[in-house]
Amino acid sequence: MSSLLFTCPTTRRQAPTGVGTDVQSLRAAWSKKLKVHCSHCGKVHEISVREIYIEGALHDAADRLRQTC
Ligand SMILES: [Zn+2]
Repeated sequence: MSSLLFTCPTTRRQAPTGVGTDVQSLRAAWSKKLKVHCSHCGKVHEISVREIYIEGALHDAADRLRQTC
């Protein structure tokens, strides 16, 4: 199963949150804050599942728009 990614604010690199990208996993974690141990900077980031999901969706949409231009 693929995992929802978040962007590390320190290194700007993406790391998995451990939350699945299927509907059931997202729904269960949707309004939660997660503490994720970041493999890039070694710190623990507190992230909102809803925020990073929306960020990721916007990022994908922007990529798609760029490809069609
Ligand atoms: Zn980090």
